[in-house]
Amino acid sequence: MNAPDAVKAAREILAGKTPMKGDCGRICGAVCCSPDETGKGGMLLFPGEEGLYDPLPEGFCILPDDSVILGGYLLTCEGYCDRELRPLSCMFFPLRPTFKGDVRIDRRGLSTCPLAEYGVNGLDSEYVKAAREAANVLASCDEIKEYLRALGAHIKRVQEASRF
Ligand code: SF4
Ligand code: SF4
Repeated sequence: MNAPDAVKAAREILAGKTPMKGDCGRICGAVCCSPDETGKGGMLLFPGEEGLYDPLPEGFCILPDDSVILGGYLLTCEGYCDRELRPLSCMFFPLRPTFKGDVRIDRRGLSTCPLAEYGVNGLDSEYVKAAREAANVLASCDEIKEYLRALGAHIKRVQEASRF
C-alpha cells in the first residue's frame, strides 16, 4: 500500500473513535488544540497526508518541517476544526503509532493531556483497538514505517535534551 492510501485507510478506521466516551476536550479545555508557548500550534503530517489538504480548508496552513524527516510538513490550525478534516496525528492523540504497528502514549502529551497519565489501558477500549488497527495499516507501508521510526527517535531526542 502506498503512503496516501495507508493514511486514508487509517483515517477511515479511526473515524468517529475518541479516546474516551464523550468529549474529552470538555475536561481540559481542549488543551491539545491550543497554541504552544510560541503562540503557534500544529501537528506533523504523515507522509502523503498533505495531498488530502488540497484545497486547504479555511483556518489550516501547511508549512515545510524537516524536524523529523526531510521534506516533512506541519499543519497549523486556529484551534478548531471539523472532525472529518483533522490530521491523523490529532485523531491518534494522546496515542501515537509506532513503526512496529502498535500504539503507545505520546510522551509529548504527558504534561498537558489529563488522559495520558492513565496509559493506553486507561483509554476507551474501542478507541485503542481502532488505533492499533490503524497503526498496523500505517506500519505496513515502508515509507510511513520509516517515518514512524524517525518520529520515535525524534521524540526521544527532544525529551533527553529537555532534561538538561
Ligand atoms: S488534551 Fe487530552 S483530554 Fe484534552 S482534548 Fe486533547 S486528547 Fe482530550
Ligand atoms: S487540527 Fe483540529 S484537532 Fe488538530 S490541533 Fe487543530 S483544532 Fe485541534
